[in-house]
Amino acid sequence: MRNGWVYSDDALGTFVRQGATHLQFWCVTPNCLNRDTVPIAALTARYGPRVPLVMLARKARCRCCGRRGCHVQPAPPPVRGQPGYQEWVRRHGARDDPP
Ligand SMILES: [Zn+2]
Repeated sequence: MRNGWVYSDDALGTFVRQGATHLQFWCVTPNCLNRDTVPIAALTARYGPRVPLVMLARKARCRCCGRRGCHVQPAPPPVRGQPGYQEWVRRHGARDDPP
């Protein structure tokens, strides 16, 4: 399908369409295991929506130990009461069920 909004399964743009707002970067050095959560908007501004997660995983450098390469996965969407939840509901049209 030729469509500018359709990216490969692991492209940043695909996760955005599925409702993801942040990516989690996990260092895999045994004594470090630092985790960072990064807004996807900042990454698409720099690399574009077509970049696959595996490329980001290869490029990423740990802020703590300096190791290059880490595990990357989409962060779960915010839940009620967390920062960004109302905005997420507005943007993605999720039902805001009363508790
Ligand atoms: Zn590290």
